[in-house]
Amino acid sequence: MARLVMKFGGTSVADIERIRNVARHVKREVDAGHEVAVVVSAMSGKTNELVGWCRDAAALHDAREYDVVVASGEQVTAGLLAIVLEGMGINARSWQGWQLPIVTSNAHGSARILDINGDELIKRFRERKEVAVVAGFQGIHKETGRVTTLGRGGSDTSAVAIAAAIKADRCDIYTDVDGVYTTDPRVVPKAKRMEKIAFEEMLELASLGAKVMQVRSVELGMVHNVRIFVRSSFEKPEDIDPHANQPPGTLICDEEEILEQQVVTGIAFSKDEAQISVRHVPDKPGIAAAIFGPLAETNINVDMIVQNVSADGATTDLTFTVPAADHERARATIEKAKKAIGFTTLDSATDVAKISVIGIGMRSHAGVAARAFKALAERGINIRAITTSEIKFSVLIDAAFTELAVRTLHTLYDLDKT
Ligand code: ADP
Ligand code: ASP
Ligand code: MG
Repeated sequence: MARLVMKFGGTSVADIERIRNVARHVKREVDAGHEVAVVVSAMSGKTNELVGWCRDAAALHDAREYDVVVASGEQVTAGLLAIVLEGMGINARSWQGWQLPIVTSNAHGSARILDINGDELIKRFRERKEVAVVAGFQGIHKETGRVTTLGRGGSDTSAVAIAAAIKADRCDIYTDVDGVYTTDPRVVPKAKRMEKIAFEEMLELASLGAKVMQVRSVELGMVHNVRIFVRSSFEKPEDIDPHANQPPGTLICDEEEILEQQVVTGIAFSKDEAQISVRHVPDKPGIAAAIFGPLAETNINVDMIVQNVSADGATTDLTFTVPAADHERARATIEKAKKAIGFTTLDSATDVAKISVIGIGMRSHAGVAARAFKALAERGINIRAITTSEIKFSVLIDAAFTELAVRTLHTLYDLDKT
C-alpha cells in the first residue's frame, strides 16, 4: 500500500466527461489499496475567464477580492469530482483551502504556503478509507482569515505541499502531455520525453518559461524531497497497472539518481520579456545604481543587463530586460529618474523572446554557449543580450525567430536524438 497525491490540471478536468475519466484514474489507485489525496485545477479556460471578469469590473482592483473570484474555479471542480467519485461507490470528500487549512502568506494573488495540517486527511484515510479531493491554487491567510491564491499554475504547488504534509510516497502530476520534454513538444515536434530530470534542471526549465510545472512546486519538492512524477491523464485509466514500476512519465528527482547525464538537457523559451535601452548615459561611477535603484524600489525585477559603448564613443548604452507586464511601469520609472541618470533617449521593445539552454553538465564543460552563438549567427538570428550562470545560459532575440532558434539549438545539442 502506498500513499499518493494525484494532481489533475485544467485540461484534464475540462468538462464532466473528463472529470469522469479522472475519477477512473482515482478508482484504479483506490482499488489497488492506496490512500489517495487528489488535487484539482479549475476547468481549462476558467481561471482566464475569472481574471478577465475582475479586470472588466475595474482595471485596478483589490487583490483580496481578485482572490475571492479566481479561487472559485477550483471550488467547482473539487465538488464535482467528489460527486462523481461518490457516484462510483468511492468514499470521497472535497476540501477548500480554508477548510484543511492551507495556511499562506498574505501576498494576495501570489501567496506562499506556510503550513498545511495533514492530520485530518490521514485520519480519514485510516478510519473511513476516504479519498480527499482538495481544491488546488487556494489557501487562507491565518491572521485575516481571507482567501488567498498561489499565482498562475499554483495547483502544482498545492499538490507538492500536500504530498509533503501527508508524507506521500509519490506526487503524480497528471497533465495533457505524458511527461517533461527536452523542450515544449507543441513547438518542437522532435522534442523527446525524459525518463528523469534533476530538481535543479526542472527549476531552471520552469523559471525560464516551461509552464509544465509551477516554479514554486519544484522548489518545495526539492526542499521536502517529494518524488514528483509528471504523466498524462489521457492514458486510458484501465490500461494502467497500478503495481507496475514505471508507467510512461518523467520522474523529477535528485541529481544522483540520474546515471547518464547529458551536457544539455532542455531548452525553454519565454515571450514575456520586454527590452529597455537607456542611451547616451555618461560613463561614470554610480550610473548603474541611478538606473537600477529606482526599478528595485518599485519592485520591478531586472533580468538581463548589457552595457556597451554608445555610437558616439564617449557615453555608454545600458540595455536590460524586465517582465513584459512591467514594461510601462519600468519606462515611467526611468523617465522619472531622467535627471539623475542623464540619458538622451529611452528605447524599448516587447517583441523579444528569451531562449534558455539548461544542463547540469555545463558545470564541467566549456564552450557550450559559444556553439549556440555560432549556430544562431549562421541562421541570421541577432542576439540582443546574453546571461549565463552555472547550469544555464539565455539569449534575447527577436520574437519572430523564437521557433527557429529553439529548433536550431535543439538539433545542435543532439536533443532530437536522445
Ligand atoms: P495543466 O493544466 O495540466 O497544469 P499546463 O498547461 O500548465 O498543464 O502545462 C502543460 C503544458 O506545458 C503542455 O501542454 C506543454 O505545452 C507545456 N510545456 C512547456 N514546456 C514543456 C516541456 N519542456 N515539457 C512538457 N510540456 C511543456
Ligand atoms: N487554475 C489556476 C490557473 O489556471 C491554477 C492551476 O491551474 O494550476 O493558473
Ligand atoms: Mg499548470
